[in-house]
Amino acid sequence: MSKRLTSGSKKTGGKSPYLVGLTNLAGNPGTRLELDLEFSLNPEWTNGVVELVGETEDFHVELTSLSEGVLARVTGEIPTTAQCSRCLDEVGDTILLDETQLFFFPEKLEAARQDAGDDAEDVLAVSDENEIDLEPLLRDNLVLSMSSLPLCEPDCQGLCPGCGERWDTLPPDHAHEVIDPRWAALGDLVKTLRDGDEKQ
Ligand SMILES: [Zn+2]
Ligand SMILES: [Zn+2]
Repeated sequence: MSKRLTSGSKKTGGKSPYLVGLTNLAGNPGTRLELDLEFSLNPEWTNGVVELVGETEDFHVELTSLSEGVLARVTGEIPTTAQCSRCLDEVGDTILLDETQLFFFPEKLEAARQDAGDDAEDVLAVSDENEIDLEPLLRDNLVLSMSSLPLCEPDCQGLCPGCGERWDTLPPDHAHEVIDPRWAALGDLVKTLRDGDEKQ
């Protein structure tokens, strides 16, 4: 069963807008909670090429209580926009987010960080207020899912460097006359001589 809640759309007292309360999950291993949440999308979540569309998005959050923490699975379909890296046309896409992350209970955190060694900073915890913050999970996975070379079609032919038209709209024999630089220099010489004649 799933409850409809609105969260993340308003920021209160400098707290993360991506906090989710765990109610009775702590200390009850095996307990599950499913939530449909609306989170605001931060426009700074971009790889510099792809951007998120819209201000908020619906996410489905499944929480499962374990002995060492709470397992959170977050799914959502998030529309994006970008420019084709070859022809500059707009490219709309959708990120299918499906990520699972374990948040350790505060009393299990120290041991978990020791086990993680060099990755200790990536170990996330349930807060003292019995909440988890989904911001790092959402931000990191959305940004990492963005393409660095978006294409409008896998075989986009791009643009003709001579005229900037799309290759797929140009006839197959389309070409630009290329002037040999040596002839171009001769043309300049002829022009200089002619200009000189006119001044006399
Ligand atoms: Zn293209
Ligand atoms: Zn051309």
